[in-house]
Amino acid sequence: MYFEDLTLYSYSEIHSGPNIYNIGWLDAKHSFPTGVVSEDILNKILKMCLKRVVGARGFHQCNICKNPPSGPEVPLGSFPVMTEQGELFLGSAEIRVLGEEGKIYAAPNLIYHYIKGHDYLPPQEFLDAVEQWEPI
Ligand SMILES: [Zn+2]
Repeated sequence: MYFEDLTLYSYSEIHSGPNIYNIGWLDAKHSFPTGVVSEDILNKILKMCLKRVVGARGFHQCNICKNPPSGPEVPLGSFPVMTEQGELFLGSAEIRVLGEEGKIYAAPNLIYHYIKGHDYLPPQEFLDAVEQWEPI
């Protein structure tokens, strides 16, 4: 499932809207910007992942990984990460981040893995929005 960064979100019709923009819908066939994202922002993204927004049946697969994790406890195509609330499997939900002027960013929760595992650098306006975010 590939969408270019900052294009209008349309993946889930029910959850789409005029102000919702795609972030981090990566695919191995399309190049993406890389760079360094601060630990602070990564931790915030992980906290956001703990709140499931748009749940999907099954898992999106990261097709950039050459050796995706597998095992009896790992749902096919998902990525286990340790969080303060225990193990979380990325790949079956999205996160939403509120930006400037009512903009909303919609990202697969795999974005955490894309940044950490593949050095993906999301657009600056998205990083700014994450920086502003405070867990409730
Ligand atoms: Zn990967």
